[in-house]
Amino acid sequence: MSTHSRHIQLMDTTLRDGEQTQGVAFTPMEKVSIAKALLQFLRVDRIEVASARVSEGEKEAVSLINQWAQQEGFAERVEVLGFVDHTRSVDWIKSTGGRVINLLAKGSEKHCREQLGKTLEQHSIDVLQTIGYAHEQGLKINVYLEDWSNGYKDSRDYVYGLMERLQPAPISHFMLPDTLGVMSPDEVFASFSDMCQRYPALQFDFHPHNDYGLATANVMAAVRAGVSAVHCTVNCLGERAGNASIAEVAVVLRDKMSMELSVDESHLVRISEMVENFSGKRVAANAPIVGADVFTQTAGIHADGDQKGGLYKTKLGPERFSRIRSYALGKMSGKASLKKNLEQLELDLSEEDQKKVLARIVSIGDSKQTITTDDLPFIIADVLESKSYQHIKLLACSINSGLDLPSTVSIRVDVKGEKHQTTGAGSGGFDAFIDAIGKVLQHYDYTLPTLADYEIRIPKGGHTSALTECVITWDCGNELRKTRGVHVNQVFAGILATIKLINIQLHEMANSLEA
Ligand SMILES: [Zn+2]
Repeated sequence: MSTHSRHIQLMDTTLRDGEQTQGVAFTPMEKVSIAKALLQFLRVDRIEVASARVSEGEKEAVSLINQWAQQEGFAERVEVLGFVDHTRSVDWIKSTGGRVINLLAKGSEKHCREQLGKTLEQHSIDVLQTIGYAHEQGLKINVYLEDWSNGYKDSRDYVYGLMERLQPAPISHFMLPDTLGVMSPDEVFASFSDMCQRYPALQFDFHPHNDYGLATANVMAAVRAGVSAVHCTVNCLGERAGNASIAEVAVVLRDKMSMELSVDESHLVRISEMVENFSGKRVAANAPIVGADVFTQTAGIHADGDQKGGLYKTKLGPERFSRIRSYALGKMSGKASLKKNLEQLELDLSEEDQKKVLARIVSIGDSKQTITTDDLPFIIADVLESKSYQHIKLLACSINSGLDLPSTVSIRVDVKGEKHQTTGAGSGGFDAFIDAIGKVLQHYDYTLPTLADYEIRIPKGGHTSALTECVITWDCGNELRKTRGVHVNQVFAGILATIKLINIQLHEMANSLEA
């Protein structure tokens, strides 16, 4: 049964296991937004949203999610972790309007004996008592066999014994976790094959963790062995190294195993961004599918292949995830990368000029790691000694800053050939500069967009005398725009990045007037 195509359920536990990540706490409204996005847009089969009896805030969030899910017909797809406590977890879940309990039973003999001080027989009686009550209350029941991976390794007899006792109970899914992320794909395949063959009438879920970086590979092994559902989280959120990534799991099961899934892949990146914002846990730029750099080609030969009709095409194309491919400019880039970027900027350069620009990009790329598309007009302007992009020039700038004193600035600028001199004040040097430049730009019907992000860094291993690089992200209404400034003084790096943005935007304003 194992290898043929079948439907695999994805159960997302970002809101329960994912929230157990250190430093992550979602507000009730954030939880509701994530739950809606998971069920309505990403269309996962089931979500686990909380642990029962945790807090009042949790209760409010679960109630709101259940209310919404009921209206949308998703009620049975919202699950809550509950404990072997007879009536308490069940009552808590019922009071939030919940319909499904994921009951946490002990999957290892050691836990049962040492944590609970109980025998298999005693623990089974307790579990069945809670199941009996949950059933009476009309809840749908799934059971976790906590720490099953270690339990199975240490004492299979305990695991089989527990299964024999629970098997006749009204349990929809037996959820087998690799709680500490200790299994390898071979071990997952062997143990799940055994479980699935021993209990062919039961539905098994696999709940992986990523401590060895094997979560996705382990999911493949479990699916090959016959499980019917897999647990994962958005952005691998979860304790320690986290859970399996829903984005990775979804594409791997489709592309590598031809499994049928309900998930709508075009929403994977958007929900990843939402969870990134709400959790405050940044996604690595090279994270598969959802990372910022994943669809950036740095090597010129790959851009050349794209130019010549998709020679480097893979199934993981950016369009599939509502993203676009970008072409990095740096020392690895070639003519084709430059062409692609020029196309995006709608710039047309002669072959001769392209060569000059490319040589400059390569030389800058030797010392600087990131050259953005927004830098390109400046490199071009610089290289070709064209005045067309020099709408604004900072001629002089002096900043006074002191501890416990407001900063003041005095600037001289050239805007479109007109010289201006003015002063500004603010809470810091950069703020004072923004005040001053704002006064000048008033005369040109131009206002600076607001800051979305402001990052300062120095090269790795740099000294106090190193260049600082300031990358500012500007919220330009319908798009985010990044500009970079480089200077030994970090305030001036920020000022240069600001001047760059003004330059680009004044240029665009001039162009749109002409057109
Ligand atoms: Zn877990």
